[in-house]
Amino acid sequence: MPILRPRGRTMLRRALALRCPHCGGGPAFVTWRRLMPSCPVCGLRFERGERGYWLGSYFFNLIAIETVFVAWMVAFLAATWPDPPWDFFQLGTAALMLVTPIAGFPFSRTLFVAFDLWVRPAAPEDFAAPHEPARRRLLPDD
Ligand SMILES: [Zn+2]
Repeated sequence: MPILRPRGRTMLRRALALRCPHCGGGPAFVTWRRLMPSCPVCGLRFERGERGYWLGSYFFNLIAIETVFVAWMVAFLAATWPDPPWDFFQLGTAALMLVTPIAGFPFSRTLFVAFDLWVRPAAPEDFAAPHEPARRRLLPDD
């Protein structure tokens, strides 16, 4: 069975919706911080391969943080020049630098998976069923 290869724009849209970039299924996250091991719809493993895989998502989050900082700085200085209130700038910058990585964390994960799928399309081994033990159901006779 051939594996479909979604377009980059489609995977980007799905990743921004915190869904599986490959099929759009979800939910991709158990909590805000915890990504499912694989897509509940298509079975794509989100961590694909080598150790340190999520280093790329940290890089994506770092890019987002730096982009927010530059946008904040330019907008703040443009709005308050020639006499910017530097104390407020420091507090606002500190708050943004604390909130942005937390808010952007899940997006950095799905965006990195989408980028990885775009560069390195899904292969059959990426869809292997997860090896999670089935929950044993206790019956009254056990
Ligand atoms: Zn999927």
